[in-house]
Amino acid sequence: MSGTLTEPVRIYELAARSTVVDEFLDFSDLPRLAAILVPEKVEDCSVRVELVVSRADESVAVRGHLEAALGLQCQRCLCPMLFRVDHDFCWMLSETETRPGTLPSEFEAILLEDCRAEGIARGEGRDTTLKLAPLLEDELMLQVPFAPTHDEEACKATGDAFAARPVDGETAHPFAALAALRKKPD
Ligand SMILES: [Zn+2]
Repeated sequence: MSGTLTEPVRIYELAARSTVVDEFLDFSDLPRLAAILVPEKVEDCSVRVELVVSRADESVAVRGHLEAALGLQCQRCLCPMLFRVDHDFCWMLSETETRPGTLPSEFEAILLEDCRAEGIARGEGRDTTLKLAPLLEDELMLQVPFAPTHDEEACKATGDAFAARPVDGETAHPFAALAALRKKPD
């Protein structure tokens, strides 16, 4: 079934039917993500979403998998690179705050009230309609590193330039950039 992710859907009805979705998302439906893609790699970019929407007491459980290829700019050599996302997630969509400790740890609680405030959900109770694409876009944006970089072998930056550019996440040495600055001649 097409359009389940981009059109407002009656989320409780999907849950009651235990709906399975397997769709590719177009970047025109992911404007914030589209804005950070480099034009050189646009042809190679894609986002595939697999979802199972099911009922969980009074809430709606969404278990999903995101598989994406995103053309970004390597922050070491500044050349285009293809960043791949392979990410599992679980959401619990509820009308009220879940009591602490009652939600399995793999789930992220999402309040439908917040979705209404953001304009991606409308209606009340069982009549609630929700647009899933913006929530999926949030999930994807969180997977994009602050400073994406090629693998070492693929990167065009070499030597000092390679060491000086920011490395993402835990591998970054906080003083690497400072050390590289010091080495530069005046
Ligand atoms: Zn690079």
